[in-house]
Amino acid sequence: MGKKTTPKSVTVNKADQTMEIVWADGHESVYGLEGLRKNCPCVICKGGHESMSTAADRSLFLQEPDRYWEINDLKQVGNHALQIFWSDGHSNGMYRWDHLRAMCPCKECYPPEVREAELTH
Ligand SMILES: [Zn+2]
Ligand SMILES: [Zn+2]
Repeated sequence: MGKKTTPKSVTVNKADQTMEIVWADGHESVYGLEGLRKNCPCVICKGGHESMSTAADRSLFLQEPDRYWEINDLKQVGNHALQIFWSDGHSNGMYRWDHLRAMCPCKECYPPEVREAELTH
């Protein structure tokens, strides 16, 4: 595993409704909980096996959340993924570290130009 996809720490900040990952290469990713929940990679949320390979929708991180989310628990799955136990009882999603890094919504990883390009697709 490369440094880019190796997490050094994962912190959930309930008050801010965010989960922050600091990566081994020093990069920090801050994910809004609702965007993260809506990007759940499990087969139920993705709507069937044929959609499993579709990329995360990072624009979800830029929307105003319409509810309050809590994370009850986090579990490391092997060394490749993170399982999130949501307050709505859902816990099927295995968020792969490389996917999480790829969906980093920071301005550096997800500049407005890229967002525009994705939205016009
Ligand atoms: Zn799911
Ligand atoms: Zn980033």
